[in-house]
Amino acid sequence: MVADLSQIVQSRRLVVKVGSSLLVEGGKPRDAWLESLVQDLTKLRESGVEIIVVSSGAIALGAARLGLDKGGRGSLADAQAAASVGQIGLAGLWSEKLGAQGLTAAQMLLTLEDLEDRRRYLNASATLARLLEAGAVPVVNENDSVATDEIRFGDNDRLAARVAQAAGADAVLLLSDVDGLYDRDPREEGAKLIERVDGVTREVMAMASDGSSSGMGSGGMVSKLQAAQMAGRAGIALAIISGTREWPIDNALATGRGTLFLPHRSDGARKAWLGGRVAPKGTLRVDKGCAEALKGGASLLAAGVVGISGNFQRGDLVSIVAMNGEVLAQGLAEYDVGDVQAIAGKREGDQAERLGYAPRSAVVHRDHLVLL
Ligand code: GLU
Repeated sequence: MVADLSQIVQSRRLVVKVGSSLLVEGGKPRDAWLESLVQDLTKLRESGVEIIVVSSGAIALGAARLGLDKGGRGSLADAQAAASVGQIGLAGLWSEKLGAQGLTAAQMLLTLEDLEDRRRYLNASATLARLLEAGAVPVVNENDSVATDEIRFGDNDRLAARVAQAAGADAVLLLSDVDGLYDRDPREEGAKLIERVDGVTREVMAMASDGSSSGMGSGGMVSKLQAAQMAGRAGIALAIISGTREWPIDNALATGRGTLFLPHRSDGARKAWLGGRVAPKGTLRVDKGCAEALKGGASLLAAGVVGISGNFQRGDLVSIVAMNGEVLAQGLAEYDVGDVQAIAGKREGDQAERLGYAPRSAVVHRDHLVLL
């Protein structure tokens, strides 16, 4: 069990996420800083920690090369073009800097769908495992050139949490331009750094001020908390530390400054994957009794469904929310949306006639459902 920051770096397998504003300044890579980080990573490797890097910076680097305004984030087309140009440089940079320390970089560009689809997720997972076994350092980024607005992470914080899951890592370190989560906007007087968070509750979420202070990446504290939530559910510890100084990891360990999110629970591998999916196709609203039953481990039955939105088919991911909008769970629908509409609120005995076939045992079976 990870109890403090220093234990994060004693993990067996660690994902280190580096934001754009740390890597890129004025459209150019921050070479000296990156070299210092790579020295930190080399030290960790020498102490037996396997490292996976999740690196942003493609859009920022490419936008400068192409002369695009708004850092290449003015439109999706700009971001895609900028990422195409910048990713070459970014991968080259990691390859060069890791190479100088005798380490081999391996580029992996992933889309959200690569990780939402179970088979593709397992493929990515196998590649990561083989790369680590072969001694390489995977350097992962979202494949922004082909990602579209609807189907992308858009921030590398959640990507890092998902990659950690796919790689079976035990911790994630987010290097940021802030040194952790504050109880309010860190620019406000009296704002306090929270050293340790045991569960990302609504109250914790409310502490995050939206938007990234640098404006270069797309992360911000909200996406970091979402990443912490995803990691926590998969039994993975996550820490946010400042990356602004050189040798950022060494520095954070020396000062002990940062926020550690304790891992919460560990679902089985398949349920952890399901719980980490981020793009539900629809939403089912359920009544109070049904919400209680779900919390107790029951399947979602048609009788408790009071509202349906979205357009989903049997097997698609749906989000399950309470009457007050609180997200309770997500899981795989046993029916297409039309059939759920036909049987919502109905008891089992009344369902066959409406469906025209024998009803399944649930709308979302508990084996394919994860409480959030
Ligand atoms: N994937 C984006 C890039 O390489 C960064 C996403 C983010 O800002 O987190 O530029």
